[in-house]
Amino acid sequence: MGFVKVNDRTIPKEDKVFAVSGRAKAAIAEKGKDAVVDATIGALLDDNGDLVVMTSVMEAIGMLKPADYAAYAPIAGVPEFKEAVQKALFADYAPKGHVAVCATPGGTGGLTHAISNYSNIGDEVLTHDWCWANYKGIADEHGRSIKTFRFFDEDGKFDSADLKVKLDELAAKQDQVLLLINTPAHNPTGYSLTDEDWDNVINIVNAASCKVVLFVDIAYIDFAGEPDEVRSFIPKLEGLGDHVLVLFGYSASKTLTAYGMRCGATVCLAKTAAEADEFTKAVGYTSRSTWSNCNRSAQVVMGKIYSDAALCAKVDEERKMYRDMLLERGKVFEKTLRENGTKSVPFTAGFFITIPSDKPDEVCKKLEEQDIFCLALAKGIRVSIASISKEKCVKCAKAIAELMK
Ligand code: PLP
Repeated sequence: MGFVKVNDRTIPKEDKVFAVSGRAKAAIAEKGKDAVVDATIGALLDDNGDLVVMTSVMEAIGMLKPADYAAYAPIAGVPEFKEAVQKALFADYAPKGHVAVCATPGGTGGLTHAISNYSNIGDEVLTHDWCWANYKGIADEHGRSIKTFRFFDEDGKFDSADLKVKLDELAAKQDQVLLLINTPAHNPTGYSLTDEDWDNVINIVNAASCKVVLFVDIAYIDFAGEPDEVRSFIPKLEGLGDHVLVLFGYSASKTLTAYGMRCGATVCLAKTAAEADEFTKAVGYTSRSTWSNCNRSAQVVMGKIYSDAALCAKVDEERKMYRDMLLERGKVFEKTLRENGTKSVPFTAGFFITIPSDKPDEVCKKLEEQDIFCLALAKGIRVSIASISKEKCVKCAKAIAELMK
């Protein structure tokens, strides 16, 4: 692929996702979209291959006034937005502790907030070995690096034992550890930590010998399953000790299928008012000195949706329809793999399924010969079931299973 060196950073010449998705687009232009399976796109498409745009969200956008687009927003976000994010995140649960919210340009901004404020230059940031590639990029950009624990053990269970080993290793050499966990509907595996996994995480983090900042990346939460069930881990976090600070990375990109509006938030759930206040000052400073304030119109849209019970119900209902479509694709994909003698990395729900492979580049190359475009990761093949129909899920799963033989 090739790299360029700029200011000591090793920058790939080409983004792997954009490269493969460019080849998929070229194949579609030549052969038509029915002939091509483009499972590279990290956005939800309907069964015709068109981007899902929720009409209920468009209704809220239609209520905006010119000044909602034109005016600056406060750094932390407009008050209605900050309220809306708490409703979107906590639903009916009233968290004990001190909550603070800061707007970000999508869930990506939350990761920047967390890494720049809750790790030091030169630190290692801990996360699972299967992870969104951008974690490494954001850490690198800030002079940090990523250390990983094994996400799954030999039995395909969440590997809490390895989390403990890696956390203790870092605690022995750093004053604090930033732990990034992406759940529910993790990218790229689709795994959601179970309640038992969470109990293990909480015990391990509680036993750590240094301050731990636990950042839960919930970018896909609204496509992970039943809203109450996928939020069942949140009250458990009350069991964390005083040396642990909880942050959530919220993304409206997925929740509202509005990726281009660049709207998200970092939410802090602190034990003390002083810690929450420090969070507000620190992440606000990062915002101001990077992207400054965020898209006001998107924040007003969030505010309108979550303050209007009827409109919110409409958005929920419309999203449920698409969520069910996505969950069905996942079931069909898994079933087809199973019937053809192959298994994915443990999958619960979400935009992606990953099939483990020790020759991912080779398999993806052969798939491309059949006009099936997937992303080759270091240890597997990532399929975006968000971007292909149920029929294409069957075709893709069969082709992968065949190549695995
Ligand atoms: N976290 C994960 C795991 C993701 O996959 C993504 C996007 O793909 C994000 C966060 C951030 O999304 P955005 O910045 O588009 O809201």
